[in-house]
Amino acid sequence: MSGTIRPIPTATGEILPDAMGITSLHEHIALRQGDVHWDESMAYAITELKRAKDLGLHTIADVGPPDDVAGIREVARATGINIICCTGFYLLQRSQLGMKAADFQDKMLKDIEHGLQGTDVRPGVIKTASTRMPIRPAERELFIAAARIQQRYHLPICIHSVSGCAEQQSILEEAGADLNHCYFSHIEATFGWAGRTVEQEVDYLEGVVAKGSTLSFNNFGNWNHTKPEDLARIIHELTRRGYADRMVATMDVTWSFEHGKLKLLWEDTNVNGKDRTYAYLLDTAVPWMQANGIPKAVTDQFIIDNPRRIFTHRTA
Ligand SMILES: [Zn+2]
Repeated sequence: MSGTIRPIPTATGEILPDAMGITSLHEHIALRQGDVHWDESMAYAITELKRAKDLGLHTIADVGPPDDVAGIREVARATGINIICCTGFYLLQRSQLGMKAADFQDKMLKDIEHGLQGTDVRPGVIKTASTRMPIRPAERELFIAAARIQQRYHLPICIHSVSGCAEQQSILEEAGADLNHCYFSHIEATFGWAGRTVEQEVDYLEGVVAKGSTLSFNNFGNWNHTKPEDLARIIHELTRRGYADRMVATMDVTWSFEHGKLKLLWEDTNVNGKDRTYAYLLDTAVPWMQANGIPKAVTDQFIIDNPRRIFTHRTA
């Protein structure tokens, strides 16, 4: 292979893909919840990331635009975790539904060229999202913009894909995206399967990985959204069909404050829901996969090799 490997921007400087180590590619550091809870949020993020670091976690991608980038940088400094920040858009708001690809591109381009939120932190990943099928015109424009920005700057694209990941992928493909550097999140959430059985869902997902993209799972322990036997089945079957190099495991840690109390997303709808934080990936999700017959060599791919491959780009 020719060319040199491009460094990856993080909140605290550039790293090379080899330095990523154990990585979770779909996380959040939910700091900006009004100033009242900022300190508590910060302390929680630091404590929980340190706990995960003690278990081996080394790098995360914060894929929540617009999470608080200056705060993220402080968390990265305090924990020693590499945090890759993002540009792009989550679910579009009503006011954004008239935007065109050029508008989305402008915003991403500014983030990349000038830094995020007035900092010198450059994004290392592009976030895109669509809500449900059919994909709306502005969402289509967003995917087109992401593909164009990816072509120009060689960043991976992280997609919010509760439903319609194959349709999202088609738009990206048509717009010239490098599908090997696209990863589709939340695809295991059963309510997004449009009535497909788990067998049909495996076939549907195979179409996406066969084109080179990666599936990102985060419902470990969130068994209300995916039955454990279904998640195990999807991982098993895609591994058996030769796609162990096209899956990653993450937690998608998110929190808010309710009546002044910090609450993890889905904590009250799951047994031990309070434990579903960054460390859960290594102390529970990975052991759960291994107990369900996924070899360590494969779970290592999910948390080490595959994230590194997705973030490895060579210069021409
Ligand atoms: Zn998320």
